[in-house]
Amino acid sequence: MNILVANLGSTSFKFRLFRFDGAGGATMLAKGGYERVADHGKAIDDCLAELKAAGHVHAAADLHGVGFKTVLGKNLTGCVPADDRVIAALEGFKDIAPAHNPPYAAGIKRFSEKLPGVPLVALFETAFYQWMPEAATRYAVPEAWHQAGVRRFGFHGASHKFIAERSAELLGRTDIADRVRGLYQSGPVPAKGPALRVVSCHLGGSSSVTGIRDGVAIGTSMGLSPQSGLPQNNRVGDLDSAAVPFVMKTLGLPLAEVERQMTKESGLLGLSGVSNDLRDINAAAAQGSARAKLTLDVFAHSARHWIGAFHLELNGCDALVFTAGIGENNPDMRAAFCAGLDQLGIVIDPAKNAALRGTEGEISAAGSRVKIFVIPTNEELVVARETVRFIQSQKN
Ligand code: ADP
Repeated sequence: MNILVANLGSTSFKFRLFRFDGAGGATMLAKGGYERVADHGKAIDDCLAELKAAGHVHAAADLHGVGFKTVLGKNLTGCVPADDRVIAALEGFKDIAPAHNPPYAAGIKRFSEKLPGVPLVALFETAFYQWMPEAATRYAVPEAWHQAGVRRFGFHGASHKFIAERSAELLGRTDIADRVRGLYQSGPVPAKGPALRVVSCHLGGSSSVTGIRDGVAIGTSMGLSPQSGLPQNNRVGDLDSAAVPFVMKTLGLPLAEVERQMTKESGLLGLSGVSNDLRDINAAAAQGSARAKLTLDVFAHSARHWIGAFHLELNGCDALVFTAGIGENNPDMRAAFCAGLDQLGIVIDPAKNAALRGTEGEISAAGSRVKIFVIPTNEELVVARETVRFIQSQKN
């Protein structure tokens, strides 16, 4: 089975082509993309022409499905056919995800015109959170706001689902891994054996921490939009809502400018004044920049806040997992997240931690009650796998 994963940004189009064998094993056949895209229809044409020239996809019949990592939809989530219902749901929430929903809606329309008969599948980033307890999703807002859609949705769902599945495998809990594999087709099914409690930390250009019990999310740091939770690269993360009217009045900023500054000039960039990339901030801190050092401390403080929240909510933790650019590649930050937590059973092995960059492995000390893992995530592969599972579930 050949599955194309389409990753659409406001001015970019990236793709990966996977081939699945009968046993579910996947090989990536091709990857590519275009920046500064003005016409997504043309980018899709170019992508299909590239795949044809490379000998992978000669005709629509050689493509068995296209998967889309859609962000969030109004009144719709899960892994579903990417059809008019998805397009309407994306358009319904375009104000919450303005950089992502319009290109995905346009891209799905284009693919359905160009590849009639090829199954198109949308995996919403919010899908992993559809079974969160209601108390973890509600904001204390007037009912009309809630009815309009103001609630915690959660994001990075493809990544956290990958971590839920892989960490269960690493802990020998194949029952939970199987449960996670079929989650979007079957919904949660009762787990056998003792509870498996995982705190998954996706820390990168954008960051979120999610608590997972028996493969199902019980809470997450991101909320209504991916602007919330930990400080993001350029985005503010959690902020007291009173700050917005306050700066509008005292600094005389119009709302659009406040929004721009909260999404483009805040987060790690706003804090450090150096860069939105933690590598540059690390370098500045090493050269003595107090602001850069404080940025690292704020980021660690925020990550620990959320790790602690889910450690408590889960009544303990079996695996603490780090993934994405910072989680996979930054041993100093991982050490900062885990510092002084021996009473909670979290003890890192400094040598293992220092040695591990960008590959999978365990970094906990021999006596650590909580297993600490680094697991490189692969969101495109997750979308491709879910697309295959969805197509197969429709055949059964
Ligand atoms: P995105 O969320 O945009 O996909 P990433 O997951 O790549 O971004 O995360 C970007 C962050 O990860 C940056 O702050 C950067 O410092 C860090 N990072 C990425 N790759 C590396 C690396 N090889 N070594 C150290 N840090 C890295």
